[in-house]
Amino acid sequence: MARVTLVPTGEEFPVGENEDILTAALHHGVNLQYGCRHGNCSSCKHWLLDGDVDDSAASVYAIPRNEREDGAILLCCTYAESDLVIEIDQHDGAEALPPMTPPSPRRATVLEVISRTSNLVELRVALDAPLSFRAGQYAEFTLDTGERRSYSLLNPPSSGSELTFCIKRVQNGVFTAVLDQLEPGYHLHLEAPFGTMFLRETGRPVIAVGTGSGIAPLLSMLSDAAEQNSDVPIRFYYGARTTNDLVYLDKLAELSTRLKDFQFIPCLSQGTPETVPPNARAGRVTRAIAEDIRDASLYDAYLCGAPEMCDAVGRLLEAKGLPEVRIHADKFYPAIESAPVSA
Ligand SMILES: Cc1cc2nc3c(=O)[nH]c(=O)nc-3n(C[C@H](O)[C@H](O)[C@H](O)COP(=O)(O)OP(=O)(O)OC[C@H]3O[C@@H](n4cnc5c(N)ncnc54)[C@H](O)[C@@H]3O)c2cc1C
Repeated sequence: MARVTLVPTGEEFPVGENEDILTAALHHGVNLQYGCRHGNCSSCKHWLLDGDVDDSAASVYAIPRNEREDGAILLCCTYAESDLVIEIDQHDGAEALPPMTPPSPRRATVLEVISRTSNLVELRVALDAPLSFRAGQYAEFTLDTGERRSYSLLNPPSSGSELTFCIKRVQNGVFTAVLDQLEPGYHLHLEAPFGTMFLRETGRPVIAVGTGSGIAPLLSMLSDAAEQNSDVPIRFYYGARTTNDLVYLDKLAELSTRLKDFQFIPCLSQGTPETVPPNARAGRVTRAIAEDIRDASLYDAYLCGAPEMCDAVGRLLEAKGLPEVRIHADKFYPAIESAPVSA
């Protein structure tokens, strides 16, 4: 068992032989910024000052070669081979994370599997023990093969031991194949909570942007905000291809009666000004945001869903004056890299 010391916080924790450093840190209640836990998003990039590691699991694309030579490591796919000293990359102006519940395993019994659209499925499960989490966090399912898949909780923390997920069906997907076979009463294994997506209490107005299943963490956050009687102004841009792809409109309508200052802006990428319903906008979320927001510096932003969408909206908001540290993105990276697309 090796020991890890973090600089400059001085926090220390043990790390097991087959345990990546990030998972060990989270299990010991050490709060760090991170994202996908599969080596794709680079949010857990920090610097090895002393010790030996096996970081061969990290994709060669995740860290530029010069940074790797200077000691950059991704904690989620690095294993200790001796005691380690790691310098934590503290982003200028980023606020410290509040205490987060360390993840722990649960057995989940399937309650319901509902097709919401042609490719979005709602999965409801009951846990064998209650789970404490922050609205916006995610769970990780472990399949019998040992493969892990991440899905955000759609329900607010007040839902007790029942969890709801909104899952996109993916062609040839490992979890998708399992999902297609699930029936009420089946058992699944998951660990939760993970992630650093949650509504920061800054008092600043919020721009929330989600596409597809990216609505899940945002619905959890909106429901929780309504339960907390939050009066923070929230503009929610929800992107889908057509009206048939918009889900949870009933829930959003109900939330708009409970949230004090809430604007719901559906954006239909395949719509035209002539065809979209009166409350919706034609085009992608980026187009509506570009038209609506002149000065983004007043806001905090929460972006959930496809990484390309999060990056595009993030760049747009930065160009409109929003500092990067106030843009919180939950990028839904696939657990495995996509196969190369033939030309
Ligand atoms: C923090 C976090 C939270 C997430 N929350 C959710 C959520 O709430 N709902 C949700 O649906 N997904 C979510 N995801 C994404 C989800 O974990 C992955 O899409 C998952 O790998 C798909 O599982 P699968 O086993 O069916 O497909 P896989 O077996 O992982 O993939 C099969 C093939 O499809 C590709 N692929 C996988 N996902 C996608 C995709 N979304 N679009 C296009 N190609 C893809 C893969 O690269 C691979 O080539 C989240 C991801 C992260 C990192």
